[in-house]
Amino acid sequence: MSQIRKVDVAVVGSGPAGHVAAVQMARLGLSCVLIGPEHGGKDGRTTALLGSSVPYLEALGLWDAIASKGQALRVMRLIDDTGRLFKAPTTEFDSSEIGLEAFGYNIDNNQLVACLHEAVRDLVEDERLFEDKQLARSVRLEGDHADVEMEDGSIWQARLAIAADGRNSIVRQAAGIEMRKWSYPQTALVVNLHHKNEAHRNISTEFHTKTGPFTLVPFREGYSSSLVCVVTAEDAERLKSLCRLELALELERRAHSIYGAFDVISDPQTFPLAGMVAKQFHGPRAAFIAESAHAFPPIGAQGLNLSLRDIAALADIIREDGIKDPGSLEVLETYGRMRRSDVWSRTAGVHMLNMSLISALPFGQGARSAGLALANMVPSLRKLMMKAGLDAPGKIGWTSRVMNKKERGAQG
Ligand SMILES: Cc1cc2nc3c(=O)[nH]c(=O)nc-3n(C[C@H](O)[C@H](O)[C@H](O)COP(=O)(O)OP(=O)(O)OC[C@H]3O[C@@H](n4cnc5c(N)ncnc54)[C@H](O)[C@@H]3O)c2cc1C
Repeated sequence: MSQIRKVDVAVVGSGPAGHVAAVQMARLGLSCVLIGPEHGGKDGRTTALLGSSVPYLEALGLWDAIASKGQALRVMRLIDDTGRLFKAPTTEFDSSEIGLEAFGYNIDNNQLVACLHEAVRDLVEDERLFEDKQLARSVRLEGDHADVEMEDGSIWQARLAIAADGRNSIVRQAAGIEMRKWSYPQTALVVNLHHKNEAHRNISTEFHTKTGPFTLVPFREGYSSSLVCVVTAEDAERLKSLCRLELALELERRAHSIYGAFDVISDPQTFPLAGMVAKQFHGPRAAFIAESAHAFPPIGAQGLNLSLRDIAALADIIREDGIKDPGSLEVLETYGRMRRSDVWSRTAGVHMLNMSLISALPFGQGARSAGLALANMVPSLRKLMMKAGLDAPGKIGWTSRVMNKKERGAQG
């Protein structure tokens, strides 16, 4: 007979979203297990955490450690490098224009997960959270509980399973919920660069090219940037095959030498671009968060920020109505309903911006150029665009309610 351990919540998936979800559920006072293998430390990406992600992580007591490892993003500079007829003006958005010290912080994904794991370890030591570093082998969703079977045959039985197990989520598959999927003729190449002649001055620079954005984001001290370069699959493979010296020269050329010469300081990695949204964000006894529910191209640094809003929304609903049964139909239906507009509006926004770059049709190109020209002329529109880039409509200011007094007390 297999060993069965009971908890309120089983979080399946130990990426950044799974870690935050587990900490959040423990802070709500629910018994919780975080399931999934330890992070390999080999993710070459960085993540820009923006807008309400910062006060949300602050409220969870996670922010200080993350911020100490990240770089502030104070200015977002957009440069049209498409060479097309409708050329957009160069536009700079400064966080001080909307009263913020920074739009957010950019942090190495390996360090991000290491910081989050530190918090998980503290909760495990305090016996407020369990950690199981095996893969989940199968998931069964029943009327009043979810069974997560582990590789060794043991079972975690929970009233709620949170799917944070990525694009091929076995939790979502157990619920029989399909994804709407589409692909883009693009691949993101990511690599970190040192530029000793010129500091980044906390400016993120996004060149809009015909194949997608080429974005340099402040990374470490003053003289390193992380690059996300969206190109065709063939070009990505070609760039990846270059030696570091050749790659540095080629990337400097594409960056129009704004920082002078580059040194390549990490191995380049590639990520084919795709879009997907689950047809429903919940199943019986299961809530789908992060990439188990939605994924889109890395444009505008939206993916994990959107995922944190999934977790915050789920926590809000459980806090209001679901502490007794966090996996009840009422909680899950409310969650599914609440997340629809934020997820679809971000997905559509990223899709349209991407298509306005790669489409040969003049309409999208013209709309993007006109939008940026207007932003340069109309201050109120600039502010609106900056706020919209950071958060879901109506969400600015919501973080004051992310934790009640009891949870804050439980942090200590
Ligand atoms: C190039 C690039 C740049 C990006 N930049 C940004 C950015 O600046 N800002 C931003 O907000 N977002 C960004 N994103 C998006 C962001 O990286 C993703 O949203 C985020 O990494 C997804 O995290 P996750 O925890 O949902 O999924 P993952 O990181 O995929 O984690 C899934 C986890 O589940 C585990 N798992 C899978 N199956 C099982 C199983 N059966 N049992 C147990 N565990 C399992 C895996 O081991 C893994 O740890 C970027 C994405 C790309 C591609």
